Amino acid sequence: MRILIAEDDEVLSDGLCRSMRQSGYAVDCVKDGQAANTILSGEQPFDLVILDLGLPKVEGFSVLKSLREKNRQVPVIILTARDAEEDRVKGLDLGADDYMIKPFSLPELEARVRALIRRGQCGVNPTYVCGTLTFDSVGRRATINGETLELTTRELSVLEALMSRIGWVISKEQLLERLYSYSEEASSNAIEVYIHRLRKKIEPAGVTIRTIRGLGYIIDKVSETNG
Ligand code: CA
Repeated sequence: MRILIAEDDEVLSDGLCRSMRQSGYAVDCVKDGQAANTILSGEQPFDLVILDLGLPKVEGFSVLKSLREKNRQVPVIILTARDAEEDRVKGLDLGADDYMIKPFSLPELEARVRALIRRGQCGVNPTYVCGTLTFDSVGRRATINGETLELTTRELSVLEALMSRIGWVISKEQLLERLYSYSEEASSNAIEVYIHRLRKKIEPAGVTIRTIRGLGYIIDKVSETNG
């Protein structure tokens, strides 16, 4: 899950960024509206945007407007000190999915982020199952026979990527994209380490992550008969 935070208040932006990363999201931060427009026009899709309205260069409303004009359906939460009714109405009319007023409660913001991500996956069952191994993408936990596995946030993200596409090969590049934001150094060696650790941890479920040379990794479908 990738989140973009567009916020020019350094302290707030750093705090948000840190707590979202701790929750296991890959987070990018931009400090003005122009940078937000650029990154949102890029190739890499985001799963959610947290958008301040009072941004330097290009203000938040116009970032939102151009995003929707490009027909990008990414969920957007406006986070602003502007509490006037007309601003709230304008934000929602321009296509924001939620509107929070500063000062705000971090647990509440995080809950709204989860709710929107859940809605974004609508129609898709957010719990993936492979034999006795299950992955709950909203609660962000994996279990074997109902028992929670001890996984780091990065391991969770790798497992989520593989379990959301059981039977399909996921390339190292796709895993790197999921795990790291633009500002973070990523290496494909790190992916190998996470895969290695995950293999051991999910072994009790009889689920294996196969390496497909030159292509990536796959979790095979478990058939009813061979369990
Ligand atoms: Ca601002």
